[in-house]
Amino acid sequence: MIPAALEYHRPSSVTDAVKIIEEHGDEARVIAGGHSLIPLMKLRMTDLSHLVDMQDIADLKGINVDGNVATIGAMTTQHELIESDTLFRVAPIMREAALQIADPQVRDAGTVGGNVANGDPGNDMPGLMQALNAAFTLVGPDGAREVSARDFYEAAYFTAREEDEILTKVSFAVHGKGYAYEKQKRKIGDYATAAAAVLIEKSSLSCSSASIALTNLADTPIYCEDAVDALVGSSLDEAAIDAAVKAAVGASDPAEDNRGPIAFKKHCAAVIIRRAIERAISRA
Ligand code: FAD
Repeated sequence: MIPAALEYHRPSSVTDAVKIIEEHGDEARVIAGGHSLIPLMKLRMTDLSHLVDMQDIADLKGINVDGNVATIGAMTTQHELIESDTLFRVAPIMREAALQIADPQVRDAGTVGGNVANGDPGNDMPGLMQALNAAFTLVGPDGAREVSARDFYEAAYFTAREEDEILTKVSFAVHGKGYAYEKQKRKIGDYATAAAAVLIEKSSLSCSSASIALTNLADTPIYCEDAVDALVGSSLDEAAIDAAVKAAVGASDPAEDNRGPIAFKKHCAAVIIRRAIERAISRA
């Protein structure tokens, strides 16, 4: 199907983009890579008459590492994440996760900002951002504010972002060692049946810090605090891993759909969470 007629805008600054959105209210929508939005427009499932293309906004592009903090512009593509050796050095989990998104064609256009702002529970970056404890910068008519990735997701496609705000960047503290992104999917290019992002740090023989977040196992990504508590301070022995897997599966709340019934999804979750924890430990 062909999208409905609309007015196309191509601003070169965030300020101008925000002005256009403010002027046209919920009839306007920003477009980044278009890999989630254009299919909806073609199905006429969105009702918009102003499309604000952000491709020319140079401030929204690029990866920057300053000391302990990595910042990624919203219009940075998933392909650019994979290609960046700088990012790989400070947050190798980004490359591991981005390589499991869709296929090279989608990754070539799909952006970090679109992936995290969309609020699609199937997207891989939101859970990853929760594991990294990332902050999202949102810019609207009243200026800029930061929201933690762990507070951003409210329900499927509902987030803390106001309609007139643009997500301009994500930033997080660098994390180079124990990491793993595990994803179970039906076939190459598919969204996750279940996926888990795990970060683990060891100090001498015990776990000094951990972070675990899940993708597509509920309406929103899930940061698994009880699973983290089961690992931190432990010697990362079998009992601690078992307790963490149990807690993370307990925190999940999948729905039955064409990827399988709830019991199957919980089973997949248990397998991939364990694999992710064990792989992260082996790299820590
Ligand atoms: P767009 O489609 O341009 O925008 C998506 C939504 O976010 C729109 O509502 C738009 O208004 C809003 N938006 C975009 N950028 C911003 C911003 N900076 N600030 C505020 N709002 C914004 N993703 C995965 O994570 N894992 C997968 O396995 C996966 N498989 C896919 C398979 C296929 C075949 C396709 C087509 C897509 C798949 N995707 C997958 C989705 C893909 O990663 C999308 O590109 C991504 O989710 C959206 O990014 P985008 O830049 O294309 O955003």
